[in-house]
Amino acid sequence: MERKTRIILALDVSDREEALKIAEDVSEFVDAIKVGYPLVLATGLEIIRELAEFAPIIADFKVADIPNTNRLICEQVFEVGADAVIVQGFTGRDSLDACIEVASEYRKDVFVVSEMSHPGGAEFLQPVGEAIARMAAEAGASGLVAPATRPERVKKIREIVGDKLTIISPGVGAQGGRASNAIAAGADWVIVGRSIYKAELPKKAASEIAAEIEAELRREG
Ligand code: C5P
Repeated sequence: MERKTRIILALDVSDREEALKIAEDVSEFVDAIKVGYPLVLATGLEIIRELAEFAPIIADFKVADIPNTNRLICEQVFEVGADAVIVQGFTGRDSLDACIEVASEYRKDVFVVSEMSHPGGAEFLQPVGEAIARMAAEAGASGLVAPATRPERVKKIREIVGDKLTIISPGVGAQGGRASNAIAAGADWVIVGRSIYKAELPKKAASEIAAEIEAELRREG
């Protein structure tokens, strides 16, 4: 995944044609496309292979099972052409290790959720978020998912993992977070869904967020 616009599109639509149309339309403004249950359950896993024509694909299945099942899920995800998978960390080190082992066989990436971006994310997951971030770093994950809705938490997670791990940050736009704040707090990429795919002109919406991020990066020098 190359750092260009620093935007990952969360493509949570449920129609194949619409997904392909949006992906093609916004591809110059996004560095990757995140595909999750809404689109895959509606259209099938093969949509990952089709979308991979436009951008690297992050499969957001928030994998959270025993090691053997995690291994089987990750194999399916990488076989169909995804470049990365998002997994949960609360299932423990052995479950995470299973995902990382499969990813390294395929030379792909694993992102671990340290904390979710919605209000409920503060209830159970936030108190263990820092421990999950440490475990992900020790286990050799590629990166973490940290909430743009709480930039101070992105900052904290960045302090914990240093430059060792990439941080991708959802919650921009529809959930209330700002792209520039998440980047300023230490996120490498922001994940944006509804603010792009539900916009009247998705390409324009993506270009505006890209411009906001570019201005922030210029300001930081
Ligand atoms: O539409 P919106 O921009 O809110 O989409 C955010 C995307 O990021 C959704 O696909 C959601 O499932 C995902 N996500 C999140 N918080 C996390 C991990 C993933 O919002 N911690």
